[in-house]
This record gives sequence, structure tokens and C-alpha cells, in this order.
Amino acid sequence: MEKKEFKAESKRLLDLMVNSIYTHKEIFLRELISNASDAIDKIYYKALTDENLKFDRDNYYINIVPDKKNRELRIIDTGIGMSKEELEENLGTIAKSGSLAFKNENELKDGYDIIGQFGVGFYSAFMVADSVTVITKALGSDEAYKWESQGADGYTIDVYEKDAVGTEIILKLKENTEDENYDEYLEEYRLENLIKKYSDFIRYPIKMNVTERKLKEGSENEYEDHIEEKIINSMVPIWRKNKNELTKEDYDNFYSEKHYGFDKPVKHIHISTDGAVMYNAILFIPERIPFDYYTKEYEKGLELYSNGVLIMNKCSDLLPDYFSFVKGLVDSEDLSLNISREMLQHDRQLKLIAKNIKNKIKNELLSLLKNERDKYEEFYESFGRQLKYGVYSEFGSNKDILQDLLMFYSSKEKKLVTLDEYISRMTEEQKYIYYATGDSVERIAKLPQTEMVAEKGYEILYLTEDIDEFAIKMIMSYKEKEFKSVSSGDLGIEDKENENNTENEDTANKELFEKMKTILSSKVKDVKTSKRLKSHPVCLTNDGEISIEMEKVLSSMPNNEGIKADKVLEINVNHDIFKALKEAYEKDQEKLALYTNLLYNQALLIEGLPINDPVDFTNDICKLMI
Ligand code: ADP
Ligand code: MG
Repeated sequence: MEKKEFKAESKRLLDLMVNSIYTHKEIFLRELISNASDAIDKIYYKALTDENLKFDRDNYYINIVPDKKNRELRIIDTGIGMSKEELEENLGTIAKSGSLAFKNENELKDGYDIIGQFGVGFYSAFMVADSVTVITKALGSDEAYKWESQGADGYTIDVYEKDAVGTEIILKLKENTEDENYDEYLEEYRLENLIKKYSDFIRYPIKMNVTERKLKEGSENEYEDHIEEKIINSMVPIWRKNKNELTKEDYDNFYSEKHYGFDKPVKHIHISTDGAVMYNAILFIPERIPFDYYTKEYEKGLELYSNGVLIMNKCSDLLPDYFSFVKGLVDSEDLSLNISREMLQHDRQLKLIAKNIKNKIKNELLSLLKNERDKYEEFYESFGRQLKYGVYSEFGSNKDILQDLLMFYSSKEKKLVTLDEYISRMTEEQKYIYYATGDSVERIAKLPQTEMVAEKGYEILYLTEDIDEFAIKMIMSYKEKEFKSVSSGDLGIEDKENENNTENEDTANKELFEKMKTILSSKVKDVKTSKRLKSHPVCLTNDGEISIEMEKVLSSMPNNEGIKADKVLEINVNHDIFKALKEAYEKDQEKLALYTNLLYNQALLIEGLPINDPVDFTNDICKLMI
């Protein structure tokens, strides 16, 4: 029999295929099993429309047969088979997908979609095999054929003997190399694992003979090997089951089985839709941060199945970055078994699913917040930071989705509160949502700047994480209330008496303040009477967009060392220290310089900023003592 060449473009494609499209050789099994499953689907579909054809489930299965002696692996199915023409068409032309043609001819309705519309899956066999043989008998045909190929140089087709309708694929495995051990595809446990991993949810039984050591009958310590035919796949995926039939434990088990994490999920989301996009999904919100979560190594994404066949381990397009902690999978019949990530990225169905999923996650989190506050707080402790990054990144374009999910520590409630809760407690005269920044709740509570706002009886949000103030600045206002830092120049608190007072004091002490400003030279933008201090002598506030807290964060990052907040030294004129300052100003200029520097450095320390020169500072303190 003459050898036929693959069509020209096919040769190149085959080469490309074997060497680069699939990074994991092991997926050849998934591809061949999925073809077998497609072939059975086709009979199933025919039976639906052909009265003479009966589809008896028991007769349809896939059989995996390893043969160590001959180093051969067989994948046998009882599907629709191929005629000679179909062999030529389907296996002679790479990238000509028979499944697609079948679908177009029969105008398949939704729900009978056939996996794999790309037409290269079959050739993945050449990643592990030197020689591939296909013996097949088509439904309704008396003749069977044998197709054989050693790769790019072509194939032969011969008439062959085969009783039952269906297809048998025989892979002659490649010789082992230093990097690759092809023998492993003959090991029962390896095959079993691969089937479970990639094809567990194929709807037809995948059978294999499995050897089990068992006690010899009548003996207590003698064992013998039993070979038993087993169905390896579970066939019904948990996500296709009815929610009502599943317990929390089922979901938790699935979470562990899938190695999504060592923790127990805080919440699972089971989605089955049959609207515009049909898909099933099971998503999990973990409780704990994975150890690598905040590292570059962490890869977000959901497993993606096309009609029960795993096509991608981590499909990142399905999750926005701010929900990157979500684990789980999506199965859709509407997706084609595409080969590349690049192609999936542009898939319209996938985009719709992603959007849908994003909304579901948000709503689930909101309901968790509303109904299971403790659980939400556990979650928030782990991933709140990510939500806040989400608000800040992409120029704030996601803030509307996320801002209701944020929580900050409240000076009044002494626990985490939402922005909505804060707003609900605001009095009519309160204009702003106040916040204070610092390293910890304890430290913020002691900040001099909070005194005035707290005395007014206003609630203050304590922002303790680096990202907090950046996120708040991005939100700008919540339900028409603007955010205001307790350190900002104008606190927006109306207090006529106080107002006049400070003005008077500023005028009265103009020269003293000018002098102090000169002593501190470029370190502060201004020295002035404080409206916010009650018991502390001085504090630093900022004038302008960059707050002192932001200066701290930014200056700890590379290339930002020069970024500084415009600082204002505020003086409490009702404090005894102020009297000392005044006295020094009148009598002893050297003392004034000493006091001014000391007070400035104290203010820096309270802010958690480094003092410019610790040696100078300690020398100054010593001068006070002698
Ligand atoms: P795809 O599955 O995306 O169509 P493949 O390269 O995996 O592409 O397969 C090419 C074609 O070969 C299939 O569309 C199908 O028509 C045919 N084929 C492959 N394996 C079988 C099989 N086991 N039984 C019947 N037809 C098969
Ligand atoms: Mg295929």
C-alpha cells in the first residue's frame, strides 16, 4: 500500500504541535480519551434522531490497555468509528476537525456540543509515540480499516479485520530519554492518576484492568495479585450535581481533593446557569492566605473544563486580580477545546462567564458580610488587603465594585466597621468621614491629631495598613461624604470661637512662629496655632496631597526617596510648653532654638518618622539636664 503524505501545511503543523503547542506530554491521554468520548457522543446523538438505533449505556465505554511487554498503550472506544474517507479527512489533514463538520451538518442544539473543535488533539499522540495505529470500523459499515503513521512523513490506510464498531488506537511509545520516561505511561497507577486528573468527569466509563494485592483465600499472610476491571472515572462531576443533594462536607472534601488549600473554605459558591451563557462553576473563598499569596509565584485562576474535560489548570482570565484568592473551576459546554491561552483570551463566552463570576463573588461576599459577620471578618483579615489594592489599582476603576466590601477599625465601635455603617452613625453637622493613619490601632489612638475630632464626638477610622490611605484617596467620597484625614490642614469643623482664637493667636505670635520656622529652615512649611490639640504640646500635620503616612510608604519603595509631605508644625497655645517657648523667645534665643528642635523631633517620633539626627537629638536632651 502506498504511503500518503500529509498535506503540506499539516507537516509543519504536526512538527510544531509535537514540539511546542502542548507543554505537558501527559495530556495526550486526555485528548485521546476526549476523542473517544466525542465518538460515543456521536452515536448517542444519532440515536436521538434515528429510530432504528438504540443507545444502551452499558455498551458504551472507553478502555485503556497498557502492554508493558510490547511497550504499547491502547485506547479503545465503542464510539461511532471512521470510514476510510473519514480517516483520510480527519487524520490526514491536521487542523481539520471532524467534530466541527459533524456539528455543522447536524445543527446541534445546545447541550449536545462536542468537545474539541480545533482538530489537533489527535496528533498529541506523537508527543509520546513513534508510531500510531488507528483501527476503526464505522457505524453501519461492513469494513474496517487500519491507519498507520510514524509522524510527519505520512500515513498508510489498509483494510483490516475488526468485529465491533468503534476505534482502537495503539501507541508505540518512544524510547526513554534522559529527560523523559515514556514507560510511565504503561504504569497502572500513572494512568489511573492521569485519568482522574484530566478525565474524571467524562460521562462514559473509562475502564482499565487494575492489579490489586489481596490475601490468598484461606491464608492469613500469603498475598496474590488479582486483576480486576475497574471504572477509573467518577463520571458525574460534583458541579453537575444538584446543590440540594450536596452537603457542606461534600464541598469541603472537594476543596481538599483538588488541593485548593489546607484550610477549610469560608464559603463555597455553586453556580449552574442556563441563561445566555451556560456553565457550571464551583468557587471557594478560602479562609487563610496561601503561603505564597503575596509573592510573584502565586498564580490566580480557575480550572477550566469544556464539557467535563479539563482544558486549562489556571485560567487567569476568569478572575479579576482583586478576587485572585478565589479557587475553583468552571465547566462550560459553550467553550471550544481551544489549544492556546491567547485564543481563549478573546473568547466571548469566556468573557461573559468571567463577568458573571465576578458579580457572583461580590454578591456572596456582601451576603457573608451581612449575614455571617464573624466569617467575613476572618476572610477580611486574610484578604482585605487584596480588596484595598483592588480599589487603588487600575486607576480606581473597580472602586464601585469593592468599596462596600471594605472595613476599617472604628475609634467608637472598637472593631472593624464598613463605610456604610460609619455613614449611618454620622450626625447632621458632621461633614466628613474622618480617618487617622498609623502603624497600629494603639498608636493611632494616642495621636495628638485625633484629639479635637474625637472631642467633637466624631467617629474616626483608623487606617493601619500601607495601602489604606491610598485606597481611601482613590475612593475620594462615599455616599457623597468626602474623606478627611485628622492631620489635614482644614478639618472642616466649624467652631467660631476657636477659629477667632487661633487667628488672634497666630497674629499675636507671628514673630515667634516666624523665628521657629527659620530655625527649622526647610523642614517645615509653616508653624502655626493648632485647632486640634487638647493635651499635647505640638503635632505635625500636612498641607497638600501627600500625607505624612503616604510619605512613609512611598519613601520605603525604590526611586521615591525624594517624595515628602509638606509638613506644618502645629503648636498648642494653651499648653504650658508654649509659655516656656515664649519666655525663651524673649530672653534666650539659643534656648528657643533648642526647644524648637526638640519639639519638632518629638513630633516626628510620634508620627513614626525617623528623626534627622539622633545624636543631635540626644545631645539636645542632655543640654536640658545640665
Ligand atoms: P478534534 O477532536 O478537535 O476534532 P482531533 O485531532 O482530536 O480534533 O481529532 C480529529 C478528528 O478525528 C475528530 O474530529 C474525529 O472526527 C476523528 N477522531 C479522532 N479520534 C476518533 C475516535 N476515537 N473515534 C472516531 N473519530 C475520531
Ligand atoms: Mg479531539
